[in-house]
Amino acid sequence: MSETPEPLLSVEGLEKHFPITKGLIKRQVGAVKAVDGLTFDVRKGETLGLVGESGCGKTTTGRLITRLLEPTGGTVRFEGHDITHMSQGALRPLRRDMQMIFQDPYSSLNPRHTVGAIVGAPFRIQGVKTEQGTKKAVQEILELVGLNPEHYNRYPHEFSGGQRQRIGIARTLALKPKLIIADEPVSALDVSIQAQVVNLLEDLQNELDLTYVVIAHDLSVVRHISDRVAVMYLGKIVEIADRKGLYERPMHPYTTALLSAVPIPDVKARGGRDRIRLQGDVPSPLNPPPACRFHTRCWKAQEVCKTVEPPLVALAPGHQVACHFPENAPAPADAAPEAAVPAAPGAATE
Ligand code: SF4
Repeated sequence: MSETPEPLLSVEGLEKHFPITKGLIKRQVGAVKAVDGLTFDVRKGETLGLVGESGCGKTTTGRLITRLLEPTGGTVRFEGHDITHMSQGALRPLRRDMQMIFQDPYSSLNPRHTVGAIVGAPFRIQGVKTEQGTKKAVQEILELVGLNPEHYNRYPHEFSGGQRQRIGIARTLALKPKLIIADEPVSALDVSIQAQVVNLLEDLQNELDLTYVVIAHDLSVVRHISDRVAVMYLGKIVEIADRKGLYERPMHPYTTALLSAVPIPDVKARGGRDRIRLQGDVPSPLNPPPACRFHTRCWKAQEVCKTVEPPLVALAPGHQVACHFPENAPAPADAAPEAAVPAAPGAATE
C-alpha cells in the first residue's frame, strides 16, 4: 500500500434512486433506493473491499463511481476533480484512468472478436496507437497477465474461465489505469482458480501501482486483497475499517453475522464464535425498514433501532460503525479521539 494518505477517489453522500413510474404519463410513485448516502475515500495504492449480500447496492456503487450510471445525489471526486456531473466529452480522458473488471468472464467478452481485438479495443476507442503499436502492446499485456502472446488471434471460447478473466483483466490494463473497480472478479470462477486470479490482481497492483475497489459478496474473497473493507447493507455502509480491525474485531451485528458464515477449517481460529444465521431475506430497497435498516433481521434490535437511524461514527481509529449497540465496542477511554462513542438513545448508562 502506498505511503501517501491522499485520496485518489472521494465519494460523499452518493445516492442512486431509481424512480418507479406508473401509467401513460409515467407518474413517479416511488423509488428504489439502491444506494443511499455513501461516503468513503480510497487512497492511492490501496485496495478497498466493498462487501454485502446480493442487492445491497455494491455493484450500483461501482457503476456510479465510473459514471456508467448517473448518480441522483452526492459527489464523486477523482484525483480532486468533481466528476459527478462532468460531460461525457470532459470525462473521456479520465476514463482511461478508471476501468472496470466485470463479474462474468463468459458474457463480458464478445465471442465474435479475437483476443487481440478485445484487449486492443481501448487503444482503438481512445485513438492512442497505430495498428502495429496496438498489436505489440496487446501482446505485452497478455504476457503480463500470464497468457501466451501467441493467443492474439484466438477467440474467447478457446479459453477456460480463469483464462477468460485474465483476458478481461488485460483489457482493463490496456490504458494503464490508476483505479480499477473489480466487480465480483472471481465469483463466476471455479474455486480452484479463484486464488490464482486474486494473486494476479495483487501482483499487478504491486507492479503497476494500481488502486482497487474490489466488490464481493464474500468476506473471505476480499480478506486477502483488501487494506480496508466497507460492509454495505441495503444501500448504506454499516461498517468500514482496516482489514485487521474488521476481521478481528467486527462491531456491526451484520458484519459479525457475515463473518460467522465464512468457513474456517480450524475451529479454534473461530474463537468460540458460533455461526449466526440471519432470519429472512434482505428487505426490498423499494420500501426499506425505517431507522436502522438491519433491525428486521438483527438479534440485538431494540425499540430505538426502529425509530432512530444510527449514524456512521468512529468507534476506534479508522473504524466506523453505524449501530446503537455495537459488538466488541472499545471502552470509551479507548475509543477514537476524532469521534465520541454515540450514546444509544434510550440506553441505560452506567
Ligand atoms: Fe441491530 Fe440496532 Fe445495531 Fe441496527 S442499530 S444493527 S438493529 S443493534
